[in-house]
Amino acid sequence: MFSSKNSYLAMWGPFKLDGMLLRYSSFVPRLYNFCKSLGFKPGQIMPSRAFCSDENQGYPIILVTKHFGTFPFNHGRVGGIVATGRHGPHAEHGKDMVIIQASHVGYDPSSQTFGTYCRTHTEHHQSTSSCGKIAGVLKWYKEEYQFAQDNILLETDGRQQVITIDNQLLNQERDEGLFLDLGKIILVDKDGDYKPVISHSTARSFLPSEHLRKTLAKHWPREGRETIGTNLKPALFRYKRQIPPDSEGQNQLEENLLHAMPWVVSSPAPLLLAAQVNTQVEFDRTIRTLQKEHGYQGKNLVHIAGLHIDISPDETLTFPLTKFVPWAAYIQKSDGTQYMLEQEELMAALMEQSEDNPDQTDLEAAIHQMELHQEVKVTS
Ligand SMILES: [Zn+2]
Repeated sequence: MFSSKNSYLAMWGPFKLDGMLLRYSSFVPRLYNFCKSLGFKPGQIMPSRAFCSDENQGYPIILVTKHFGTFPFNHGRVGGIVATGRHGPHAEHGKDMVIIQASHVGYDPSSQTFGTYCRTHTEHHQSTSSCGKIAGVLKWYKEEYQFAQDNILLETDGRQQVITIDNQLLNQERDEGLFLDLGKIILVDKDGDYKPVISHSTARSFLPSEHLRKTLAKHWPREGRETIGTNLKPALFRYKRQIPPDSEGQNQLEENLLHAMPWVVSSPAPLLLAAQVNTQVEFDRTIRTLQKEHGYQGKNLVHIAGLHIDISPDETLTFPLTKFVPWAAYIQKSDGTQYMLEQEELMAALMEQSEDNPDQTDLEAAIHQMELHQEVKVTS
């Protein structure tokens, strides 16, 4: 998907969507049958979900309840962060364990764009960001990127090409901000220094590097100056941000996205890419904690990670048409066997399973039966 010499943490494999989308109503029974094929015992499986708190994540929870016959345990924090401190209580609540972890992104079928979701319970059916939490985290990074796009100028001065960079962007001593990879942008002199050809009051002009002249050849103005704009590609910069440490709270999401931010902010679908990256980082982070958790030892466990695509309901529907895109799964058997399924293997394993689930609960009948049941008096 992307890589950077600045950070191996930004080197994630491709998270495919094509051919990988499952309707949620098809995904959950397949997952249930997959668990049964591993020896999980019906009636003794305790599912858990690690979803964002957005109400549009409710329909997947209803389907998990229906197919697994119990309301799932809650492993989720806003933004799709896994509360790994809750493994112990979850492990105590069932014999065989399942955790479904997913970040989410809205999708508007009319414009075929990612990142928004129509809130049908607002007065004017407003569309807002989805995931809103991720959108909030991206704001500062997008503003920094916009500043850099507007304050790096490509110029042709006489017959010489120069690149003019705002002093703020040249300051390498800042605690946080967008930092340019100057070695790829500016031509160094024979002493290995960056020597400006012109010093302005708030900017410096340099000769461009060979790399930049080649990659931007078609975009360089023949005369005059233009902003670099979207030609400021992600390989040319990185971010530094002071993110206060916390344990899986507000800042875990930002930590997860930091190394991939240059690719996220320059993507045509930033909220989609951010949700994909968050799912990938959270899966990697979470499985290490599952392997150490005493409560899960000697138990069957499936931890599955993916992406929820929230498609707003039209006026004929009550719930969103959520799709699930599997990313990876970690499987641990009660005999100690452990293995991973990567995206294509996981999709194949789910597709091998039937969509029919004879064990599913009729939720309406179950609720009706409870209403008919003799009331239990609570005494103090
Ligand atoms: Zn959200």
